[in-house]
Amino acid sequence: MAKVKLASTWLEACAGCHMSILDMDERIVELIQAGVEFTSTPITDLKHPPEEGVDIGIIEGAIGTDLHEEEAKHLRKKCKILIAIGDCAVFGGIATMRNYFSREELLTRGYIETESTKDGKIPTSDELGKLLPKVKAVKDVVKVDFFIPGCPPPADSIYTALKELLEGRVPVLKGDLLKYD
Ligand code: SF4
Repeated sequence: MAKVKLASTWLEACAGCHMSILDMDERIVELIQAGVEFTSTPITDLKHPPEEGVDIGIIEGAIGTDLHEEEAKHLRKKCKILIAIGDCAVFGGIATMRNYFSREELLTRGYIETESTKDGKIPTSDELGKLLPKVKAVKDVVKVDFFIPGCPPPADSIYTALKELLEGRVPVLKGDLLKYD
């Protein structure tokens, strides 16, 4: 069977959605035996999708910085099917709580004013990226083909979606597989 290449990344996220990927447990082996090749993912610790691209791209997390925008666009370009997993990726989720404040208020509160901070300083390294004025969902930046909501989405939902795609069907998640909590 031809390999189905998969790449994933996390953006403004807590890693919980990737923990749900790992929670598929032995079904990960089943997916690999069925032809899935995990290329660049936080799990394999490879950062960049292969030059030739992948079949399935997965994004966890919202878009909070210019670097997140770039990464989402890059993965979109490199994959045939893009899946947004988790509430943060699907609609912004908990990350959008900061949208009630300006960037300046947020950074000042986080790095200078917190009760446990002494002589705080707002970091300015380019490697951190620049905060966007508002956090966005992935679909606000690139076309998303499939959404798996939940915080985090159940491992069963991720497994079902991948299995259905592998078998050439459009996944339909319902009942316990479709959650927003
Ligand atoms: Fe974390 Fe929930 Fe956001 Fe996933 S959806 S990155 S588990 S906060």
